[in-house]
Amino acid sequence: MPEHTSLISHEPVSGAVVAEFAVDDAAAVSAAVERARLAAGWWQRLGFAERRNRLRGFAAQLAGRMSELAALIAQETGKSTDDARIEIIITIDQLRWAAGHAERVLRRHVLAPGFLLPNTVASVEYQPYGVVGVIGPWNYPVFTPMGSIAYALAAGNAVVFKPSEHTPAVARWLADALSTVVPEHPVLQVVFGYGETGAALASSGVDKLAFTGSTATGKRVMAACAQNLTPVVIECGGKDPMVVAADADLDAAAEAALWGGCFNSGQSCVGIERVYVVGSVYEQFVARLVELAGEVRAGVDGPAGYGAMTTPEQIDVVRRHLSDALSRGARAVVGGPESIRPPYIDPIVLVDVPEDAAAIQEETFGPTLTVSRVSTVDEAVQKANGTPYGLGASVFSRTEGETLARRLRAGMVSVNAALTFTGVPSLPFGGVGNSGFGRIHGADGLREFARTHAVANQRVRPPLRILTFRRTDRAMRTLVAGVRLLGGRR
Ligand code: NDP
Repeated sequence: MPEHTSLISHEPVSGAVVAEFAVDDAAAVSAAVERARLAAGWWQRLGFAERRNRLRGFAAQLAGRMSELAALIAQETGKSTDDARIEIIITIDQLRWAAGHAERVLRRHVLAPGFLLPNTVASVEYQPYGVVGVIGPWNYPVFTPMGSIAYALAAGNAVVFKPSEHTPAVARWLADALSTVVPEHPVLQVVFGYGETGAALASSGVDKLAFTGSTATGKRVMAACAQNLTPVVIECGGKDPMVVAADADLDAAAEAALWGGCFNSGQSCVGIERVYVVGSVYEQFVARLVELAGEVRAGVDGPAGYGAMTTPEQIDVVRRHLSDALSRGARAVVGGPESIRPPYIDPIVLVDVPEDAAAIQEETFGPTLTVSRVSTVDEAVQKANGTPYGLGASVFSRTEGETLARRLRAGMVSVNAALTFTGVPSLPFGGVGNSGFGRIHGADGLREFARTHAVANQRVRPPLRILTFRRTDRAMRTLVAGVRLLGGRR
């Protein structure tokens, strides 16, 4: 029996109830997966073109009813209306890309058969798994799970989605909106609940599981999936760095650092949390950052602000990282302990933070930035790569942006901008190390939700018959001679 029988979401700002749902126990999760199996067969048979039409209809729902959805996201997460709208807009782009490119990426492709079997038509296609389980976090209740849901659906799977306990109504809205354009079968179902419901989904025997959330929970999900050898994609947290070289556009870098660190109250897996600035431009960069941060405040629902922290626990993490850094010699050049006025946190910028402090090593997930002076870009790269995480990163340099980007241990890097990789649907999204593995978005994201299926079709019998007990010595000698001839070539 689950610990709780109902799930209530609240507005972080007022505490008012947003919605209440019955908790799905393990039996209810299994029943949803069974329904999804039937839906998956129908959805797969619909074919790429019709699935594309339906998913474009889903995107049209998100676009046409954006104000309604943005209001609901803002209610459950406390984020500003603009941050909610930005989330929906990039989701629509991802959904349309997945729908529009699934056939090109996943359909059967013929490959060159090679030297040994020229009589063979070799082909590969990417077939849907069947039922994909998706477990999502609260910070982007649309964009983050849809990075898996849209790509899994476009690849021909049905989805059972367990949203965060903080954002169930947004999940319900998504499934209802899809059912208006796919009324025939429940290709997207939501199961509601807490950790146990997620654990039940992970061990339910789904054909693939996509998890987005913290590294600690990701490990538990992997362990549960291991019982059935269920393949997983794990998208976890980050500690994204920005590297500012001596030849950077400092105005642009300071603006991007502030926005990348503070929008959505800093509750972004790919939010900028650490900035490494080369010494010759350090003072100038910090001065500009302080000036810009003075114009931004939490609790302002307009361009110069952002919303509330979604959970009290996250405010505690920010408070802990801040007090630890200050007690170890760091200085706050913007804000300080007084910036934390729950449920809001105004921008905080820390300098002189020791590299082994929690504010540098652990995910803070709040509107805070650490800025560190480095002697060279090499030192910046080394320190940027110095945490167990490796999700996103950003580099500012007029001349060596791409070179530096390639040296960063991260899944995605923006050059002369922050977080722009999230707005390019063809780019794969995912991390390394404690940030997880596997990819959503782009062609890699489509293939993540499909099993690779290879066919070697022998059209005519080969002149040299080797793969038989009836082969002749002559055939074998000819083959060996041919391979030696080829193998000797450069
Ligand atoms: P959690 O890891 O706490 O929870 C994520 C999801 O897992 C929730 O739905 C949660 O349910 C569920 N869950 C909890 N316990 C279990 C379990 N034992 N088995 C299965 N599922 C379980 O993360 P948060 O919701 O706090 O999200 C914030 C984290 O997500 C941050 O670390 C952030 O960086 C990361 N994130 C990563 C992204 C990426 O793409 N790499 C994108 C966005 C966020 P419940 O809510 O009921 O506890």
